Amino acid sequence: MKIYKFGGASVKDADGVRNISSIIQNHKGNELLIVISAMGKITNKLEELTSAYINGQEDVHQIFEEVKLYHFNLLNQLFSNHDHPIFNDIINTFVEIDWLIEEEPEDAPDYIYDQIVSIGEIVSTKIVAAYLGTLQNNIKWIDARNFIHTDNTYREGLVNWEKTEAEIKKGLAPILKNNIVVTQGFIGSTSENFTTTLGREGSDYSAAIFSACLDAESVTIWKDVPGVLNADPKWFDVTEMIPHLSYHDAIELAYYGATVIHPKTIKPIQNKNIPLYVRSFLNPDAPGTVSKDLKNHLP
Ligand code: ASP
Repeated sequence: MKIYKFGGASVKDADGVRNISSIIQNHKGNELLIVISAMGKITNKLEELTSAYINGQEDVHQIFEEVKLYHFNLLNQLFSNHDHPIFNDIINTFVEIDWLIEEEPEDAPDYIYDQIVSIGEIVSTKIVAAYLGTLQNNIKWIDARNFIHTDNTYREGLVNWEKTEAEIKKGLAPILKNNIVVTQGFIGSTSENFTTTLGREGSDYSAAIFSACLDAESVTIWKDVPGVLNADPKWFDVTEMIPHLSYHDAIELAYYGATVIHPKTIKPIQNKNIPLYVRSFLNPDAPGTVSKDLKNHLP
């Protein structure tokens, strides 16, 4: 069982989604769980929408229209058949935001934030799963909120590991035997079934949670960089990719600002000694960086 995680940059347009499908088609053999973020910069846009709603700004509907337009443009490029059920599915998913912003904002802002911002992940995974489904018939969309259980600290949900692991083992592992599963990063739910989020950039962490609970063989984070670099290419002209990294160094790098891996990601997979690959979705044949326990896995 392997876990692939794709961030917003990898699904920012129709070509990005097509590229994911070719990476998936090259994946041979064992079980695969795909964790996907919201498309492009949609989380930022939904954050804007949330504050416009909470502050009673007039442009709330305008921002929402931009979010919808972005997704429908992408759908139109991916699906020549406009009767495909995905169009209605996405319309219906966005209705949840319509209902919410019709009412006065009375709930706590962080709660409202999670109910709105999480929709980015829901629509992106529905679109990718539907597209992959046109190419192969073993694709299954799964709602991560049925598996990732948190407390009700909205915007920074604290994972209930015991419940999460039990549900994943009971409900998700059997589905993975016969299906490639597509699910969301970043989101979970409370014991009352309200949506929570795990903190910005939290999809890497979701991939780590699923991997740890499924005892995955490896996790691959597909990025727009060749792997973990020894310096930030924004500031340095010459950078080098680090092919092997210990978990310890990966944590250090993440905490000291290398934005390649989310800091919370490493611990759960280190505990289970699961190798973490960072690879380029622009050059999927390149090996990228692998983080693992270098004591036990000398190259
Ligand atoms: N979509 C969320 C964000 O942009 C989570 C993620 O991409 O990891 O923060």
